[in-house]
Amino acid sequence: MLYTIETITECIGARRVGTHEATIDWLLTDSRSLSFPEETLFFALTTKRNKGARYIPELYERGVRNFVVTQEEFNELTVDNGQLTIAMQHAGSAATVNCQLSTVNFLIVGNPLKALQKLAELHRERFQIPVIGITGSNGKTIVKEWLHQLLSLDRVIVRSPRSYNSQIGVPLSVWQMNEEAELAIFEAGISEMGEMRALQNMIKPTIGILTNIGGAHQENFFSLQEKCMEKLSLFKNCDVVIYNADNELISNCVSKSMLTAREIAWSCRDAERPLYISRVVKKEDHTVISYRYLEMDNTFCIPFIDDASIENSLNCLAACLYLMMPADQITERMVRLEPVAMRLEVKEGKHGCVLINDSYNSDLASLDIALDFLVRRSEVKGKGMKRTLILSDILETGQSTTTLYRKVAQLVQSRGIDKIIGVGPEIFSSAARFEIEKYFFHTTEELMESDVFQNLHDEVILIKGSRAFNFDLVSDRLELKVHETILEVNLGAMVANLNHYRSMLQPATKMVCMVKASAYGAGSYEIAKTLQEHQVDYLAVAVADEGAELRKAGITSSIMIMDPELTAFKTMFDYKLEPEVYNFHLLDALVKAAEKEGITNFPVHIKLDTGMHRLGFSEEEVPVLIRRLKNQNALIPRSVFSHFVGSDSPQFDVFTRGQIEIFERASKELQAAFPHKILRHICNTAGIERFPDAQFDMVRLGIGLYGVSPIDNSIINNVSTLKTTILQIRDVPAEDTVGYSRKGHLTRASRIAAIPIGYADGLNRHLGCGHAYCMVNGKKAPYVGNICMDVCMIDVTDIDCQEGDAAIIFGDELPITVLSDTLDTIPYEILTSISTRVKRVYYQE
Ligand SMILES: *Cc1c(COP(=O)(O)O)cnc(C)c1O
Repeated sequence: MLYTIETITECIGARRVGTHEATIDWLLTDSRSLSFPEETLFFALTTKRNKGARYIPELYERGVRNFVVTQEEFNELTVDNGQLTIAMQHAGSAATVNCQLSTVNFLIVGNPLKALQKLAELHRERFQIPVIGITGSNGKTIVKEWLHQLLSLDRVIVRSPRSYNSQIGVPLSVWQMNEEAELAIFEAGISEMGEMRALQNMIKPTIGILTNIGGAHQENFFSLQEKCMEKLSLFKNCDVVIYNADNELISNCVSKSMLTAREIAWSCRDAERPLYISRVVKKEDHTVISYRYLEMDNTFCIPFIDDASIENSLNCLAACLYLMMPADQITERMVRLEPVAMRLEVKEGKHGCVLINDSYNSDLASLDIALDFLVRRSEVKGKGMKRTLILSDILETGQSTTTLYRKVAQLVQSRGIDKIIGVGPEIFSSAARFEIEKYFFHTTEELMESDVFQNLHDEVILIKGSRAFNFDLVSDRLELKVHETILEVNLGAMVANLNHYRSMLQPATKMVCMVKASAYGAGSYEIAKTLQEHQVDYLAVAVADEGAELRKAGITSSIMIMDPELTAFKTMFDYKLEPEVYNFHLLDALVKAAEKEGITNFPVHIKLDTGMHRLGFSEEEVPVLIRRLKNQNALIPRSVFSHFVGSDSPQFDVFTRGQIEIFERASKELQAAFPHKILRHICNTAGIERFPDAQFDMVRLGIGLYGVSPIDNSIINNVSTLKTTILQIRDVPAEDTVGYSRKGHLTRASRIAAIPIGYADGLNRHLGCGHAYCMVNGKKAPYVGNICMDVCMIDVTDIDCQEGDAAIIFGDELPITVLSDTLDTIPYEILTSISTRVKRVYYQE
């Protein structure tokens, strides 16, 4: 559905500068996601941490001609003789665009986000179809995807891509509605009061589902009730509202909110409710659910046994009943529900390949997101490697084959994919549209038997298929299977932590992110790449080699070296790695080395000792330091900093205040001696939280980024999960012992499982002999006997489990702090002890 630029200008009440004739099909808010420049309208949004306007010159270069902007972003916007000049300033650098007035459109509005939302509202109004709006604390995406699985055989559905449910995600989702759509399903997520109104205006749901209410995103709400009421405001004009009547909070809020909608409240306790769940029976690997609706009794099964899945299925059931799906069809489809893979996983493949497996769903929007991910990953790990896409037919989109594959071919081309391998009759018949290296097969089996498949090597491969094509087989075959113990790293959670700490900063305060010690064990490339994408000001590593590795992998951010070795100056100069300088010996050696290379003004970071008594110049040494620095021009102090001794603990607050005072004085003295700005910084994670008045120009974020709060040892957003799989289970009689030195005494006949992780992987030996436990299928499994080098044993007598099941060493269900407390150490040590042979697997939700 194309809109002319005139229509859009009018709809969002913009002042238009430019006379370019354009029709718009794509809305863009993130410059990295650009694929169809000519038909794209870019909204320059200002968020807490970024300004979209700074990307305008780059986007203009790449062919974008239509922009929604606000006047404030420009220092200059002049029209002279058919020629338009715009200039903007950002973070010290200026950028200008010069162009013919007739080739562009700048739509000037007060607030580009509001304009984006307004446009979505207008678009929404053109459709009379049923729209399901889903909100709640958990399960939104799963309920949305399951409804799609249940309902899409009979109708064309438009739905939010992944979990696009925010103030920006919702308008982009709504924009996907088109003439073919017969039903739309959108998620709405909020994190503070008053946000739902804008989402309601855009989604205008006719069917409302409230999944549940929990503590997530609670920080900006006064109470759970307040949050629940806010969520319910999504349902203002709904025809029907679906919710769990057994949840008292929700039930009370629904009655209070005086919705005019019909209710399909479901209950396992109250037979008077519209949808009565009469029985829920969990079997080994499925759950049988019986219900009564409109006086009729029926039963269905789902292939899951966890409570969250049961709750999600009941919300789906209510929606299907409301849409008058016959009971036998519900039964038939519920049993085939599939787990929702919410992540794009990066795995190591055979023959030097990197695999990105996206079995989430298959449509144009998610293909676009996955391609974007592929391109960005291949900039890190797969530098110079071929970019390959294995793609099946995209089913159930409602678009004609011609239109669909024309768009796919364009996307693939614009994303710089080198090679496509298509599977399925439809994509096969569209082969001619692709103008890159290409191979096509009718079936997945045909693909897997082909030479093309056998010969994949040194490529970054995105595997994306509709469910019917069983691409799990494909990724399974391509995957390199090594040690079964992995550290899973949730990049999305890390970004959430980054933003959590950013929100505590003054707007102008810069940030260093500590990626030393292999990013606290999480793996430095991927972490650094993600941080770079999120525009942190500095990365910091311990030694020069770590920095050089990052540079070789394509990291261009500024990098600080915290422990510069005297032998590595050349590496630092070559890769522009900025060393910390902590004494005169190091300073002199650096100056000498730089002068020898003919280097001038190489940035360095001056460390002051304000109480740690580890490394650094003392306050008394500052005058001499100034003289030495002024006496040369090889180095230039870029920043001056110090490190807290005990900023996490109130016990040391007086001492910390003293450190701040010394730093204030000494750093001021240094600054006063130089005409250029020298950045001052002292706060680590705990400092950011507890000493907001000591932020100076910059802060250094470490452990908080990786999910652990240094203040109370609580987990912020868990980032890392160390997990393995059960190799073998055996029954051991009570009188026997388990493991070396017969340390594992049994008090009863037991089931003992062996898991392939030992102290050589970083599982501390002191956790053995029952001192700690891991989690198997949600239950605690204590370590039995001594932990061995590569293997250890756990007691699973009371746990329903089998060989091949996962064992979680730490993660969401078992915070790492439980282990560090047991060992009387700090989480830092556990994280950084995980050995390099444990494979890191990255994912993004
Ligand atoms: C490691 C380190 C930090 C980060 O400390 P956290 O407690 O992990 O936030 C900050 N500054 C310096 C100098 C460091 O070495």
